[in-house]
Amino acid sequence: MKKIVILGSTGSIGSQTLDVIRAAPSEFQVIGLSAHENTQRFEEQVREFQPLHVVQTSVTENPESALCALVSLAEADIVVNALAGFSGLMPTIAAVKAGKRIALANKESLVMAGELIMKLAAQFKAIILPIDSEPSAIWQAGAVVGAGAPGIEKVTLTASGGPFWKWKNKELEKVTAAQAIKHPTWKMGEKISIDSATLINKAFEIIETRWLFNMPLERIDVAIHRQSLMHALVHFNDGNVQAVLSTPDMRIPISYALFYNEHRPVRRINNFPRLDFSELQLTFEKPDMRAQGALNLGYEVLAAGGIAPAVFCLSDEVAVNKFLKGEISFLGIYEFIRRALDRMRNRPLSIEVLNELAGTFNLGNL
Ligand code: NDP
Ligand code: MG
Repeated sequence: MKKIVILGSTGSIGSQTLDVIRAAPSEFQVIGLSAHENTQRFEEQVREFQPLHVVQTSVTENPESALCALVSLAEADIVVNALAGFSGLMPTIAAVKAGKRIALANKESLVMAGELIMKLAAQFKAIILPIDSEPSAIWQAGAVVGAGAPGIEKVTLTASGGPFWKWKNKELEKVTAAQAIKHPTWKMGEKISIDSATLINKAFEIIETRWLFNMPLERIDVAIHRQSLMHALVHFNDGNVQAVLSTPDMRIPISYALFYNEHRPVRRINNFPRLDFSELQLTFEKPDMRAQGALNLGYEVLAAGGIAPAVFCLSDEVAVNKFLKGEISFLGIYEFIRRALDRMRNRPLSIEVLNELAGTFNLGNL
């Protein structure tokens, strides 16, 4: 029986992780849970799973150290990091330093500090397993996390294009947060929904893929695939291509990470329809100018190195929050990030510098 800690259990990924665990009660024991503001859902979860350790960050004096202590519990076999944004970074680093097996949904950790985290993972013998569906698909197609990708020529990440695919700037200027949150194929937390609408999420996944699989950035590209059925394609150097397809349901990659590289049926919990290939239409398109602009930010900050990826990620988080509060427009998100990157004086990244940057972006007050 594996002992599990879940950070952000009240969120979209956290709740779906509990769905998988609920369906396999003899395999997993929940020993720690964290939530932020959703007290009601948290109380229900605590009643049902009876974890020994709980942290509610909105009412904890020092939330970051409480989360870091939770992930470092000696008895924890698996840590699921389902926090959104910067709040997930230091707990990822703490879990890595504790040498844990980490099922990582919080892609922002890798965007901000992927190189550092992968180095620490090797040093402390931590294992990072992606929950994000595209890197999960690359892993399922045979790439090894942390070990590079011998024999792999290129990977293609698919992107749905979000709710505003092909919309003109004139229309985009007026979109509301409610419209942007409505994703055409996935139901997710607020931040990643906005990141998907801007396509910044896909730039994040380029960076996530670069570090998880030690894949040079020029060997990562993106195809727009509106149906979100194919999650990634791995192109091998003999001309073979492996693709991973499934119904868009995050419980599939979550269970693949929890069961560590094993396909286990999760059907009895969600009964999602199986893919019927006689009825499927799979389409692929090139990113348009707006999408390419967002993706280019990912390539640009990766090439720049140092603090650039962290500034990209942190400025996006601030901009998304401003957009959700109605303080800036949808297109204002791109402008905010651009300004932050243009003003940045680049320097080497360290944990101290990350904390300093988070202070500069005032993330504690979000
Ligand atoms: P949600 O917003 O649904 O959940 C976030 C969780 O973190 C909640 O439990 C929330 O608590 C908690 N939380 C919020 N703010 C803080 C804070 N300041 N400190 C500590 N905890 C906090 O996010 P998602 O589940 O959608 O996403 C989680 C991560 O997974 C993100 O990095 C996202 O990019 C990634 N991901 C998500 C996918 C999805 O389908 N949702 C798909 C692929 C990746 P509470 O609700 O109690 O306030
Ligand atoms: Mg994804």
